[in-house]
Amino acid sequence: MEDCIFCKIGAREVAAKEVYRDEAVVAIEDLNPQAPTHLLVLPLAHHDTVVEAAENGPLTARLMSVASTLGVRCSESGFRLVVNTGTDGGQTVGHVHVHVLAGRRMAWPPG
Ligand code: 5GP
Ligand code: ZN
Repeated sequence: MEDCIFCKIGAREVAAKEVYRDEAVVAIEDLNPQAPTHLLVLPLAHHDTVVEAAENGPLTARLMSVASTLGVRCSESGFRLVVNTGTDGGQTVGHVHVHVLAGRRMAWPPG
């Protein structure tokens, strides 16, 4: 999709610090980290939100699988996966992505 920053990162048209890539997803370091480890796992194909992505079960499973594997690799004592969705969900980039946050104790409830 034109003018989608995450499509451009997926296509390597915009630089990002990649930590994982396969034929369906890429994981990058977040530009503005909210924890000592803050990664984003995103599909190479554009989907606005997890609602659209969830129509593709294998893709959704891949996103969660890669995010979980990276979380375990980053922290033995736990991590948090977040999928902000829509305006009230706090989504600021309209290309679905899973946040992987680790390296500090997470608060609950979230802000
Ligand atoms: P959202 O608010 O949509 O859940 O998360 C978007 C995330 O993408 C934010 O944490 C933000 O810091 C990150 N982000 C936005 N633009 C870029 C970028 O160009 N490169 C990288 N690596 N992260 C970005
Ligand atoms: Zn996109």
